[in-house]
Amino acid sequence: MASPQVFPLTPLLRRAARAPGAGLVPRVAPAAVRVPDPRQLALPISFPPGYPQIFVHEGARQALERRLTQAYQRPVLLSVTDNARRMISCSRRNGILTARIHHMFLDAGPEVQDALVRYVVKSERDASQLVGKFIDQNGHRIRATRPASCKIKTQGEHHDLLALLHKLSDRYFAGQVDALITWGRAGKRPDMVAAKPAGKGRKIVKTPRRAIKLGTYSATERLIRIHPVLDKPWVPRYFVSFVIYHEMLHHLMPATVVGGRRLLHPPVFQARERMFRDFERAIAWERRHLHRLLRA
Ligand SMILES: [Zn+2]
Repeated sequence: MASPQVFPLTPLLRRAARAPGAGLVPRVAPAAVRVPDPRQLALPISFPPGYPQIFVHEGARQALERRLTQAYQRPVLLSVTDNARRMISCSRRNGILTARIHHMFLDAGPEVQDALVRYVVKSERDASQLVGKFIDQNGHRIRATRPASCKIKTQGEHHDLLALLHKLSDRYFAGQVDALITWGRAGKRPDMVAAKPAGKGRKIVKTPRRAIKLGTYSATERLIRIHPVLDKPWVPRYFVSFVIYHEMLHHLMPATVVGGRRLLHPPVFQARERMFRDFERAIAWERRHLHRLLRA
């Protein structure tokens, strides 16, 4: 990495980063710190209007600005954005190039930064392809494109999701996970199935669920939802943690595309999942209690 790092990496994260194709990276560029959306904080903190959305490492910004200036051979003004849609925009006026670039580029490798400079200054075609590929690979660094569509509720009757998320984030991800978390809504149970009786007509019978999604992750909202069925005194904390941990991995590891197919749980994901301290225990617990969860 060319630019200075703000966050220390834990040994675990460092190892993961070194593993080929690990795909686990900090959620923002190490040279930028995202300011949380005040609407979605558990504790209300108010930021004045117009407050920047990210704190940017000034040294990293200046280094990139210098590279652009060298290539352009005239003044360049670089601002770093946390835009959700426009990753790069620039305009030229009176010999000055004004460029607005997403923070993901601050800690891109020299090859990508070089392509970025050629793309911005000379609109080179092959450079644009390389830059486009980098953006695709770093989609997970782009902030939520829409706010959470539901009210965030983290404190359950038996389990406190936010406390568990923070614990997991510190333990496994160097405190870098900036996903939101909430208990999902119980909603309508999709367990009223139309069963075909032997005779004529249909009747509705209540059967246990056939499957249950204990956790989901929405990338557009950056939101982990945990099924309320887990907020029970008989569900151990390590199991709730395991479900959260799994969704955190989705937050951090974008799906990989292999041969045109989207893989949600590629081998590298599964390897990370097994790093969960109580992995075997959690899997065994789930196996023993699945019927109970399905009926709950
Ligand atoms: Zn999954």
